[in-house]
Amino acid sequence: MSRFLSETHAKLTPYVPGEQPRDMQYIKLNTNESPFPPSETAIKNMAECASKLNLYSDPTCKALTEAVASLYNVKPSNVIMTNGSDEILNFAFMAFCDTAHGAAFADITYGFYPVFAALYNIPAEIIPLREDFSLDVDKFKGIGKTIFIANPNAPTGLYLDNNVIEDILKANPDNIVVIDEAYIDFGGETCIPLIDKYDNLLVTQTFSKSRSLAGGRLGFGIASEAVIRDLNTMRNSTNPYNVNSMTIAAGLGALADDAYTRRNCKTIIENREYLTEKLKMLGFTVIDSKTNFVFAKSDKIDGESLYLKLKEKGVLVRHFSKQRIKDYNRITIGTREQCDILLAKISEILES
Ligand SMILES: *Cc1c(COP(=O)(O)O)cnc(C)c1O
Repeated sequence: MSRFLSETHAKLTPYVPGEQPRDMQYIKLNTNESPFPPSETAIKNMAECASKLNLYSDPTCKALTEAVASLYNVKPSNVIMTNGSDEILNFAFMAFCDTAHGAAFADITYGFYPVFAALYNIPAEIIPLREDFSLDVDKFKGIGKTIFIANPNAPTGLYLDNNVIEDILKANPDNIVVIDEAYIDFGGETCIPLIDKYDNLLVTQTFSKSRSLAGGRLGFGIASEAVIRDLNTMRNSTNPYNVNSMTIAAGLGALADDAYTRRNCKTIIENREYLTEKLKMLGFTVIDSKTNFVFAKSDKIDGESLYLKLKEKGVLVRHFSKQRIKDYNRITIGTREQCDILLAKISEILES
């Protein structure tokens, strides 16, 4: 820390992203990226865009906003495009929380929520998941705070039905409820249609996982027009050109190739069922997942040792040292070949 850092930020513990090592080729099953390349149209659009980078990107993201709106059957005025969905979460904390109006989220969920809360000095109510990692729904009702729920949740993979989401929306009519659907395309059903009924709902999604564009940094939010206007105020007060031209082009390409996305998601779901079954045969406990990862623990080896030994063997998974989940690893679903290599390495480790 320099002697110039603002006192407000002196105690900040930043978010720690999963490793992105450049030293050697790993089988990367640690940050929930897609094992498949971006769609061909996305790649072609991006390349064509390169020669126009002397111009600023479209600050309204008009074409992309319209494409997203049409895919989800909402109006363009219900959509905001952002630099990854981390940015829309940032805007939501900025816009809808303050020192008087706190935030609430689960103890085991996306690690960025507590970081944003700390960044803006927002009091956070941490609501523990039940013993089996399910959401203690009643504890989210009528709490007078801005609520953040990842559905499906990370890193557990558990999914909540939309009628449960609706109960939470109904029970908090005067507070925004953010439903972070980063993993919704892997077997869940989006709650976007509920924005017509609930003006307190903000749904966030990303192109990072199902659409193979993690490096492009593209996310979006869908909500009532008034909520989107507030989020645009945050955007225009921080970074009006928040989505760059190549990413806009790539995003349009990905949406044009929606069948490619659907096919890849189907493959990931099949591979998830395959990997889950094989891990169970090796004695693992695997939490029921509706995402592109599984959360699994072995009774033969502790979570951190398994993570380290897999890393030695060239396979990266994600281990969290938090007490409640330290026995587990979060393993991204890769191609069938990657699943098989992972399983072979795990068998070697368990046998030695
Ligand atoms: C990956 C992820 C995000 C953010 O992804 P971006 O790459 O910033 O779009 C948001 N929420 C959850 C739960 C995630 O796992």
